Formats: sequence, structure tokens, C-alpha cells
Amino acid sequence: MKRTKQREIIMNVIERMKREKLHYKVEDVYLLLKKEGCSVNLSTIYRNFNELVEKGVLLKFLLSDGTAIYDANVFRHAHFRCLRCGKIEDLMLEEIGFDFQEDTFREKGIKLSNISVVFEGICSDCLEENKLN
Ligand SMILES: [Zn+2]
Ligand SMILES: [Zn+2]
Repeated sequence: MKRTKQREIIMNVIERMKREKLHYKVEDVYLLLKKEGCSVNLSTIYRNFNELVEKGVLLKFLLSDGTAIYDANVFRHAHFRCLRCGKIEDLMLEEIGFDFQEDTFREKGIKLSNISVVFEGICSDCLEENKLN
């Protein structure tokens, strides 16, 4: 498959991630594309995704087990991850009372590009399911 075609397929996935607020591992993208009949190999997805992180089109953050997650929502936000079902949800910083002084970074001569905060626990669905069993 041509490089430009692969690029187009990957950009379509990113559009979908943005629209549906999806958070994907590279392996998730690989399996999704395979299921849809347009196989792009893992290393190509890795390369493209990491280039897009550098360009600021995608965010990348790590889970406590070291898994890299990619996010098309590049607006500064935090995440909640359920340790049971693996679901990842967006949390707006104001919503959780997360505040920080951007001036402090500026004074240190640091230019912030991204913050990566992942709260982990058990989601309400999993807690509910536990009660029933
Ligand atoms: Zn859950
Ligand atoms: Zn997110």
C-alpha cells in the first residue's frame, strides 16, 4: 500500500478518535484497521502516531503499567482509568478542581506543552456490577 494511502487511513482513525473521544493504544488501532480490511502494519502506525505527537496533533500518555495511550483531544485535560474494565475517560481540569500556576513554569523558563495526569480506580459500572454478584 502507498505511503500516502496509509497516511490517509491513519488520519481517518484520528478524526474518529477526536469525534468519539476514544483513547487508543497502537495495537488497538492496528486491530481496528485489520478488522475493517485495511491492514497497516504496527511499525507504520507507531511511526505516524509519534510524528503526530511531535506535531501536537496527538497527545501521548503512559498508564501505570507502562502502556502508551494516544489521544486526539489535545486540549489540556486529565484522565480516569478503570483498573477493572480498562475504560479511559476524559476529566476536565476545572471539573476535578485541579489547578496549577502556569506562571511557576514560566518563571523557571519552561514552556508547557502537555500535562499527563491519570487517576486510576474502579468505575461506577464495575462497582455496580460487583454489587449484583
Ligand atoms: Zn470499569
Ligand atoms: Zn483524553
